[in-house]
Amino acid sequence: MRIGFGYDSHRFCEGRELVLGGVIIPHEKGLLGHSDADVLTHCVVDAILGAAKLGDIGRLFPDTDAQYKDAQSVQLLKEVMAKLDGLGYAVCNIDATIVAEKPKLAPYMQAIEESLASHMNIDISQISIKAKTQERMGFEGREEGMSCYAVCLIERKN
Ligand code: MG
Repeated sequence: MRIGFGYDSHRFCEGRELVLGGVIIPHEKGLLGHSDADVLTHCVVDAILGAAKLGDIGRLFPDTDAQYKDAQSVQLLKEVMAKLDGLGYAVCNIDATIVAEKPKLAPYMQAIEESLASHMNIDISQISIKAKTQERMGFEGREEGMSCYAVCLIERKN
């Protein structure tokens, strides 16, 4: 078994959709980024890549590469799962925490977990997504952006 850790953050901006785990979340602001800026999916991807020592999302999918402009991050997650499979590893479980003052994410958690599980081809019991505010401290607390932390355990397939 191997463990990986992921972290990501993105700045809020006007005129973009907020996408978390491939799910569009109703909010007056979206996140700024070259891709869809899906901070949760980026974080999960980095946790998986870290566990398998495959580098990081920026190295695999550079933001200087036009083919990743406005890319759906869950499609990158699918590619990373295929790489992991090719190496002979499977994901045991993912645990992630999204840090955001707003919007309230509890109503969307089930949909987010289902979306990630389906894009990863794992069972929903293997993925746990949580959300916290930052008690109005820091950039998340000032609603300048969102961040996310995730761990991933992988194991060699028999
Ligand atoms: Mg990112």
